[in-house]
Amino acid sequence: MDLKALQDHIRQHDFTPEQAQGYFLKLVEETGELAQALRHNKSGQPGMEDLKGSVAEELYDILYYVCALANIHGVDLELTHQLKEQLNKTKYNR
Ligand SMILES: [Mg+2]
Repeated sequence: MDLKALQDHIRQHDFTPEQAQGYFLKLVEETGELAQALRHNKSGQPGMEDLKGSVAEELYDILYYVCALANIHGVDLELTHQLKEQLNKTKYNR
Protein backbone atom coordinates (compact mmCIF):
# COMPACT_ATOMS: atom_id res chain seq x y z
CA MET A 1 0.00 0.00 0.00
CA ASP A 2 1.44 3.39 -0.91
CA LEU A 3 1.07 6.55 1.15
CA LYS A 4 -1.87 7.90 -0.87
CA ALA A 5 -3.74 4.61 -0.54
CA LEU A 6 -3.08 4.54 3.22
CA GLN A 7 -4.26 8.14 3.60
CA ASP A 8 -7.40 7.35 1.57
CA HIS A 9 -8.07 4.19 3.60
CA ILE A 10 -7.83 6.11 6.89
CA ARG A 11 -10.07 8.90 5.52
CA GLN A 12 -12.74 6.33 4.61
CA HIS A 13 -12.73 4.69 8.04
CA ASP A 14 -11.79 7.50 10.42
CA PHE A 15 -12.60 11.07 9.43
CA THR A 16 -14.01 13.26 12.18
CA PRO A 17 -12.97 16.89 11.67
CA GLU A 18 -14.49 17.97 14.98
CA GLN A 19 -11.98 15.63 16.68
CA ALA A 20 -8.90 17.34 15.18
CA GLN A 21 -7.50 18.19 18.60
CA GLY A 22 -8.13 14.64 19.77
CA TYR A 23 -6.19 13.22 16.80
CA PHE A 24 -3.28 15.48 17.68
CA LEU A 25 -3.34 14.38 21.31
CA LYS A 26 -3.37 10.74 20.15
CA LEU A 27 -0.33 11.49 17.97
CA VAL A 28 1.51 12.85 21.00
CA GLU A 29 0.40 9.84 23.08
CA GLU A 30 1.64 7.42 20.42
CA THR A 31 4.96 9.27 20.29
CA GLY A 32 5.33 8.62 24.01
CA GLU A 33 4.54 4.94 23.42
CA LEU A 34 7.26 4.86 20.74
CA ALA A 35 9.73 6.31 23.25
CA GLN A 36 8.83 3.53 25.67
CA ALA A 37 9.20 0.82 22.98
CA LEU A 38 12.59 2.25 22.01
CA ARG A 39 13.70 2.41 25.64
CA HIS A 40 12.79 -1.27 26.04
CA ASN A 41 14.56 -2.08 22.74
CA LYS A 42 11.51 -3.68 21.11
CA SER A 43 12.91 -3.20 17.60
CA GLY A 44 12.69 -5.36 14.51
CA GLN A 45 9.73 -6.71 12.59
CA PRO A 46 7.42 -8.54 14.99
CA GLY A 47 4.73 -11.03 14.11
CA MET A 48 1.14 -10.74 15.30
CA GLU A 49 1.95 -12.37 18.65
CA ASP A 50 4.57 -9.80 19.66
CA LEU A 51 3.28 -6.72 17.82
CA LYS A 52 1.75 -5.10 20.93
CA GLY A 53 4.05 -2.44 22.34
CA SER A 54 6.72 -2.91 19.67
CA VAL A 55 8.57 -0.11 17.85
CA ALA A 56 6.81 -1.31 14.67
CA GLU A 57 3.34 -0.92 16.20
CA GLU A 58 4.08 2.52 17.63
CA LEU A 59 5.61 3.77 14.36
CA TYR A 60 2.45 2.62 12.56
CA ASP A 61 0.24 4.31 15.17
CA ILE A 62 2.13 7.58 14.62
CA LEU A 63 1.80 7.25 10.84
CA TYR A 64 -1.93 6.59 11.28
CA TYR A 65 -2.53 9.81 13.21
CA VAL A 66 -0.28 11.81 10.86
CA CYS A 67 -2.50 10.61 8.01
CA ALA A 68 -5.69 11.33 9.97
CA LEU A 69 -4.52 14.87 10.73
CA ALA A 70 -3.45 15.38 7.10
CA ASN A 71 -6.95 14.33 5.98
CA ILE A 72 -8.65 16.75 8.36
CA HIS A 73 -6.41 19.62 7.26
CA GLY A 74 -6.73 18.85 3.54
CA VAL A 75 -3.07 17.89 3.12
CA ASP A 76 -1.99 15.45 0.39
CA LEU A 77 1.08 13.85 1.97
CA GLU A 78 2.41 12.41 -1.31
CA LEU A 79 2.27 15.83 -2.97
CA THR A 80 3.83 17.40 0.11
CA HIS A 81 6.62 14.82 -0.05
CA GLN A 82 7.36 15.83 -3.66
CA LEU A 83 7.35 19.53 -2.76
CA LYS A 84 9.59 19.01 0.27
CA GLU A 85 12.03 16.94 -1.80
CA GLN A 86 12.34 19.89 -4.20
CA LEU A 87 12.88 22.29 -1.31
CA ASN A 88 15.44 19.99 0.33
CA LYS A 89 17.34 19.55 -2.96
CA THR A 90 17.96 23.29 -2.97
CA LYS A 91 18.43 23.64 0.78
CA TYR A 92 20.92 20.76 1.10
CA ASN A 93 22.42 21.05 -2.42
CA ARG A 94 21.50 17.44 -3.34
MG1 LIG B 1 0.30 2.68 20.25
